[in-house]
Amino acid sequence: MLENILTTQDCEICKICCKFEPDELIDAPTFTVEQMEYSKKINNRAKFTAIGNIYQINLERWKEKYICPFLIETGCQLGDMRPFDCKSWPFYLMKKQGNYIIALSQDCPVVLKKYLDYRTIDIHPEFISICYEVISKYPEMIMDYNREMPILYVFN
Ligand code: SF4
Ligand code: SF4
Repeated sequence: MLENILTTQDCEICKICCKFEPDELIDAPTFTVEQMEYSKKINNRAKFTAIGNIYQINLERWKEKYICPFLIETGCQLGDMRPFDCKSWPFYLMKKQGNYIIALSQDCPVVLKKYLDYRTIDIHPEFISICYEVISKYPEMIMDYNREMPILYVFN
């Protein structure tokens, strides 16, 4: 989905976005019921909290931070079955004053280094169409705009 921006190798040596500061628990990824059921078969330690018809992973305490239980030494146990929140990061699909937007996290070191000017980031049409699908099927997955992140795209 974001192959034109980030490579698998970039993420393999980084893994920052699977670890969370205590004030980032709101960012724990959310899963559809099918993704949640599949994920539990992969890792029976994983626990979820239901929010409407989606499921947020319960993060685990790790040193001074929190960590996603699907993170193992070689990366994410879920591979290509990881949820939208993870596939789309460091971009956030968010709600702002009645509009849906795509905002850019300021925490991905690779994207920040590659794109010194975030306005040059090319958002792939496939990503836009997947966002439309999330907007129509899983609006509970979309959080309100926060942290003054740069806005890359506003949906019509
Ligand atoms: S912070 Fe960026 S480079 Fe690092 S794992 Fe996450 S998406 Fe990949
Ligand atoms: S599901 Fe996978 S990619 Fe998403 S936070 Fe957990 S370990 Fe990271």
